[in-house]
Amino acid sequence: LDEAATAVPALAPKAGLKARLSANENPYGPSPKAIKAIAEASSEGFLYPFQYAGELKKMIAAQEGVPESHILLSAGSGSLLTAAALYYTYKQPGGAILSADPTYEQLMRAAVAHGAGWEKVPLTGGSYDHDLAEMEKRVSDKTSLVYVCNPNNPTGVTIDPVQLRAFVERVSAKKPVFVDEAYIHYTSDPVKYSVIDNVKKGQDVLVARTFSKIYGMAGLRMGYLVGKPETLAAIMKWGGGPGELSMTTIRAALACYKDEEFIKFSLGKGLEAREFLYATLKQNGYTYLPSGTNFVLFPIRMKGDAFIGKMMEQGVSVRQWKFDGQYWCRVSLGTMDQMKAFADALKVVS
Ligand code: PLP
Repeated sequence: LDEAATAVPALAPKAGLKARLSANENPYGPSPKAIKAIAEASSEGFLYPFQYAGELKKMIAAQEGVPESHILLSAGSGSLLTAAALYYTYKQPGGAILSADPTYEQLMRAAVAHGAGWEKVPLTGGSYDHDLAEMEKRVSDKTSLVYVCNPNNPTGVTIDPVQLRAFVERVSAKKPVFVDEAYIHYTSDPVKYSVIDNVKKGQDVLVARTFSKIYGMAGLRMGYLVGKPETLAAIMKWGGGPGELSMTTIRAALACYKDEEFIKFSLGKGLEAREFLYATLKQNGYTYLPSGTNFVLFPIRMKGDAFIGKMMEQGVSVRQWKFDGQYWCRVSLGTMDQMKAFADALKVVS
């Protein structure tokens, strides 16, 4: 779970918060079909959820074109990041996770808390992309796992698919690779940018997906891993699996996973907000990194704390980062009303 979720105040009207744009949530979910399914499922809450979990696994496997044995469900993808961190840390004592920097830190933080090292490879200058060449050079006997977040959080930058697939193919022949595709639906072509094809070719790669973003189910908690059955079985000893899922969430996921109309709507609203955000930033003289996600990162002209505080005074919560000698603000995509609140606040704060 994005640590922002706990670092920002709840959406409380009393606190005067107009727009919570700090946790990469999606205000358009859950879909109407998912909400109806939750209501219906509540009366079946006395049942263990295994049968419906099996159905969801089957549905996801068919959609991704892999056998059911290649899918591991979990209450959010975050717990799978943690489970993978624990498994690979205990598998290779004294090992280190290799990742870009900055990136989404949940997996590495869990690994470090259990004694692993963390080797960070800075993003490339200028385009703030993964430096795949340098990461490949840094893979060593000490590496226990290579973590890649694509598109990356907090930058929103998407990795070139040809280069990433070739990287995964070569690197996974030496060390396991974990590709976190939480935001893949917000790229221009999720199939093209995904490395699930590498899984299909039998390479030692895991792909993480979540229902928290395009499906707007962050609070309902559903995610999955795609990978080799033997690896998934080993990871499940540390976390994940149908036993941690709730009946209501599985039924919601079943109802919306292939709801093309809702996915199109959710994506359309996200893209509309993203274009509005780009235009707002340009109008106020800011540059930004092109995003393949439901958030946008842009360099700010004052210290991060000051900017975040001033935006909060205007009723808008956003996140800050500092890297490459620069302070940055990350804005999540909200409703158009929320984006307009951001635009008004930015005009005052700039
Ligand atoms: N991976 C990335 C890149 C994220 O940004 C997040 C949350 O924001 C997660 C994984 C975890 O999401 P969840 O546990 O809601 O599936």
